[in-house]
This record gives sequence, structure tokens and C-alpha cells, in this order.
Amino acid sequence: MKSTIQNKMNYAGLISYHKSRQTGTIIEVYDGELQGLDISSGRYYTICKEHGTCICHRTQTLALSHSRDPLGWCEQCIPKGK
Ligand SMILES: [Zn+2]
Repeated sequence: MKSTIQNKMNYAGLISYHKSRQTGTIIEVYDGELQGLDISSGRYYTICKEHGTCICHRTQTLALSHSRDPLGWCEQCIPKGK
């Protein structure tokens, strides 16, 4: 079983959804508060849909900028990068 965050997620609070040009994986950005996630260290979540990796940020701008560069935070995407 994959123990990933997306298993219990719906699309509440979805801000961005796109396929990374670097890795070909789907990257999502969520408003963690609407999604019911822990927002104590950051409200906006950037998630690699394929690997279930997530990081959170205090601003939507930061979360969106990370969504364009999964190689910087999803370790499992690194082998897929160019
Ligand atoms: Zn990934």
C-alpha cells in the first residue's frame, strides 16, 4: 500500500494542477485549510501526485513557484529529471 497523502484527499482547496515539464508527474497546489490539513507550518501545500510527496509553504506564491520545480523537493522525482 502506498502511504501517501493523496489517498485521503479530495479536490477541496485545489489551486493549481499541472504536469511537470521536468518530470512528467502531476503536481498539485492546495489550500491546506480548505483541505483540512495541518497548517501549523504553512497553509499552502505543493504535492507530487505521483509520489505523494508534499511540502507546505506560508504563501501561495511560494507554493506555486515550487510546483514548477519538483526536482527541488521530491526526492523520488530526481531520477526522472533531466
Ligand atoms: Zn515526485
